[in-house]
Amino acid sequence: MFDLDKIVRPNIRQLKPYSSARDEFSGSEGIFLDANENPFGQLNRYPDPYQRILKDKIAELKGVVPSKIFVGNGSDEIIDLAFRIFCEPGKDKVLTFTPTYGMYDVSANINNVEVESMPLTPSFEIDLNALRSKLEFGQYRIIFICSPNNPTGNSISTSVIEEIFEKTEGIVIVDEAYIDFSENDSTIKLIQKYSNLIVMQTLSKAWGLAGVRVGLGFANEKIINLFNKVKPPYNVSQLNQEAALKAINNLSKYEEQVATLLKEKEFLLKELGKLESIKKIYPSDTNFLLVEMEDADQTYTRLVEEKIIVRNRNQQVKNCIRITVGTKNENEVLIKTLKTIENEK
Ligand SMILES: *Cc1c(COP(=O)(O)O)cnc(C)c1O
Repeated sequence: MFDLDKIVRPNIRQLKPYSSARDEFSGSEGIFLDANENPFGQLNRYPDPYQRILKDKIAELKGVVPSKIFVGNGSDEIIDLAFRIFCEPGKDKVLTFTPTYGMYDVSANINNVEVESMPLTPSFEIDLNALRSKLEFGQYRIIFICSPNNPTGNSISTSVIEEIFEKTEGIVIVDEAYIDFSENDSTIKLIQKYSNLIVMQTLSKAWGLAGVRVGLGFANEKIINLFNKVKPPYNVSQLNQEAALKAINNLSKYEEQVATLLKEKEFLLKELGKLESIKKIYPSDTNFLLVEMEDADQTYTRLVEEKIIVRNRNQQVKNCIRITVGTKNENEVLIKTLKTIENEK
């Protein structure tokens, strides 16, 4: 059985959080002489520590109340906070399914937390039978499920994910950085049902705001309150909050771009499929394709020479490169260049 109190680090449970000037008075009218700000200028005031205006918008967009939303300085901040809240350094353990996003490992290492990684099956599914026996011991503080997964591109089925929620005594983080490109449902609605679920999304991919650093966390209020307690008081800058709001207020631009990228993905699938140097293109619910080449290192190096940068994933998945869907022109140049490279042989 999941018991939140049992898996929060005692020092965090007892933590008395910093009380900022904007915690103690949050109105917007008046003469503000409380935060040692410079009274002149445009960005002279501390931003809202709880990003209320932005959260109201996100709430509307996602159908989740603001109290179940956390906004981070990118999803990477949410990952780090989760380690700091739930994992005792040098003692606790988390679980990942590999190959997957590299930040879970890095963040674990920074926090001196052990990572057990379970390989995905050859078709990149979670091996539920192997997992079931491991879950019996209640040994993981956090289980990371990236769905759709980076770098493999596929989604993990909701029934598998739900079984994991039910069988673990720890937190499950479902990283949905690419959900905007997928036809599958988000697991956000399941935060009502599972009190150990944290869903992460981001404005860095489909929303076109990687430079802005806004990551979203969705969970029940108890978990969100822990994140609010541990985060730096002003973790999302005024500029970031404004940029995020502006993007969300322009929903049709987002929708058009996602539609365009999905169309371009179809183009890439079709054209890459004709190339002899390509052994396999994995199914993708994302804005990238994982492609198996005859020789990934060699293709990668040749593409770089032609000033086309893809991600060499040979270390994670043998002979695979990961290609992000670009503009129509970028994709055409890529295909043309791959054809040229092929003809050199
Ligand atoms: C790109 C990506 C993110 C985004 O991280 P941000 O810090 O929000 O930019 C998160 N998870 C995965 C799996 C990603 O590929």
